[in-house]
Amino acid sequence: MSEYKDIWVFVEQREQKLMNVSLEILGEARRLADKKGVKACAVLVGYEVKGLAEELIKYGADVVYVIDHPLLKNYTTDAYTKVICDLANSLKPEVILYGATYIGRDLAPRIAARMRTGLTADCTALDIDENGLLLQIRPAFGGNLIATIICPERRPQMATIRPGVMKKALMDEGRRGEVIEIKPVIEEKDIRTEIISIIKEARQKVNLEEADIIVSGGRGIGGPEGFKLIEELAEVLGGVVGASRAAVEAGWISSDHQVGQTGKTVRPKLYIACGISGAIQHIAGMGGAKTIVAINKNPDAPIFKIADYGIVGDLFKVIPALIEEIKEAKKKAMA
Ligand SMILES: Cc1cc2nc3c(=O)[nH]c(=O)nc-3n(C[C@H](O)[C@H](O)[C@H](O)COP(=O)(O)OP(=O)(O)OC[C@H]3O[C@@H](n4cnc5c(N)ncnc54)[C@H](O)[C@@H]3O)c2cc1C
Repeated sequence: MSEYKDIWVFVEQREQKLMNVSLEILGEARRLADKKGVKACAVLVGYEVKGLAEELIKYGADVVYVIDHPLLKNYTTDAYTKVICDLANSLKPEVILYGATYIGRDLAPRIAARMRTGLTADCTALDIDENGLLLQIRPAFGGNLIATIICPERRPQMATIRPGVMKKALMDEGRRGEVIEIKPVIEEKDIRTEIISIIKEARQKVNLEEADIIVSGGRGIGGPEGFKLIEELAEVLGGVVGASRAAVEAGWISSDHQVGQTGKTVRPKLYIACGISGAIQHIAGMGGAKTIVAINKNPDAPIFKIADYGIVGDLFKVIPALIEEIKEAKKKAMA
């Protein structure tokens, strides 16, 4: 077991652009590696991606393994599993971390089965215990239980990490690291899937994870028209619109707006919860916001327990008044 060392992060890139989740996990890997006194390594897989290696070093990697090959241009389970398992079998990392994205959730279990090791899905926190084991922490049973899972006897210890829960490390232009190019052994016959075409969504993506200001609506807004009010408030504040699952399930807004355990995890500067009761599964996705404002007609709603500012009242009266005030304040600021 002692031959296993270092913490690896599988780095996702799309069209030669690093995904935020990978930088978030790299920041966490840096912290864990420092705690254990080992290296944080980034595993960058793709085609003509070497140019991204320096950026990964600036974000905290000590070593970047670049696995570059035309057959790795687009993600396929077969190819990525093979090249990562080959590298892990030869270099023996103690830990491998992945983003819990569509790709990470597809890849990590395949690697875990092939390497006969343990995997925890969708972690929201990680740590190292006194024996140096990776603590893999995730909500279970609808968020009513927090499970801490360890993998004491198999290596590498592996986890997928939910996007948005870890903070990206700060970029440090002065950081130095090593870039190691790996020549993968991969042939066309190793890949059983054929990509016929890649369809990019035409609809505008809601970028909740990167928004500084989010105005969210819940069941309390009463119907799809209620979101017009939410949108208006978001617009005057320069923010984006979020929603509770109750609002999404009612069909009032599309699921890409959903915040919470089964939706997005967000960390804005300002989160305004309108007509949202504050169920634990909702809070799981927005409790990390810097400032939380709650508007709810029920003074006993649990959302007020975590709100920095609370307004008890009917949102159909409160929000238009707020919009007016904000517009006024903006006008004054311009004058
Ligand atoms: C496994 C699992 C996963 C889940 N994942 C998520 C998730 O990702 N995200 C999520 O949000 N939920 C999730 N849920 C659902 C969650 O438990 C709650 O049911 C949901 O968050 C409730 O949404 P809500 O607050 O909009 O509705 P409600 O709980 O019905 O709250 C509505 C609130 O609006 C207030 N209100 C009503 N009218 C007005 C008015 N005119 N003015 C002001 N206030 C008003 C009420 O006082 C009330 O507090 C999950 C549940 C499970 C079991």
